[in-house]
Amino acid sequence: MKKLNPVLLGAAMLALSTLSAPAASPIKVMILDGESGGAYHKWQLITPVLKKELEETGLFTVDVATAPKAGEDFSNFKPDFSKYQVVVSNYDAANWPDDLKASFEQYMKNGGGLVSVHAADNSFGQWTEYNKMIGIGGWRGREEKSGALWYFKDGKLVSDDTPGRAGKHGRRIPYQLTTRDANHPIMKGLPSQWMHQGDELYNSLRGPGEHMTVLATAFSDPANAGSGHDEPMLLVTSYGKGRVFHTAMGHDVNALACVGFIVTLQRGAEWAATGKVTQKVPASFPNANTVSYRTDIAAMDPLYKNGLNGLDSQPGAGGRGPGRPGAPPVPPPPAK
Ligand code: ZN
Repeated sequence: MKKLNPVLLGAAMLALSTLSAPAASPIKVMILDGESGGAYHKWQLITPVLKKELEETGLFTVDVATAPKAGEDFSNFKPDFSKYQVVVSNYDAANWPDDLKASFEQYMKNGGGLVSVHAADNSFGQWTEYNKMIGIGGWRGREEKSGALWYFKDGKLVSDDTPGRAGKHGRRIPYQLTTRDANHPIMKGLPSQWMHQGDELYNSLRGPGEHMTVLATAFSDPANAGSGHDEPMLLVTSYGKGRVFHTAMGHDVNALACVGFIVTLQRGAEWAATGKVTQKVPASFPNANTVSYRTDIAAMDPLYKNGLNGLDSQPGAGGRGPGRPGAPPVPPPPAK
């Protein structure tokens, strides 16, 4: 074997170190909040959780933009979306002024990123372009004119024009996710099935479903006010040059404590911002039978002192940890 020339070797090493030198500057994230459909969605509690979950990766710096409440003056709310690589929406409002809508549409068309968390897909029922971005949504007046129902049947995504209102869910109980696109960067390395901590399982969402890829579904059990379909829980769309990651999970801090939620949020936000995912899947990721959650996150809800799984699960409905297995069943809430 030829001896390596130390000068050349040094030069090569310098070149390598130069290549890896620009320690990727952090991804700039805007969390959007300020409104929800009702007191059951505590956006003020959710935003600090989303912020912590993103920042702890070391990949993101996070600013929060809080919109005025419904009916308040929006004339001074003009966030500069273009300063951010991704907007994470913890926001559910009926409508926006036209200039604000146009500004966000332009940001997305130019290659912006959007992450829609849980009831962010309730927002803006009548805003056509927003509904193209999120692919599907529920409530806020959505019905058959908003688009088809979308779900998995016989291993394929199907659309269904059956009329009816969009958006339903049953009691919050743990449920199993099934991967539908294992090769997508967000999903690579995740188990093909895994348990999500107690949460609402949205069903009967409707929308245009354009440029949409469903990454994971969950079975919506008719025994728990479900549709009987494998409903989209994680999906991506493209909008112009922009990328959207949509997670239907995340009703409350309990749900946001699920390691599966956290990891898919972190990976989905990176992908929406850059088109790539550089993060490893942690060993604590849930498996097909057992939920896995973070008590430090769960404790960001002041009610955590009463137990993680208070929820509205029935006795023995599952879940792990300091739950209240003896808690009586509660009828489905009117909440979204
Ligand atoms: Zn909810």
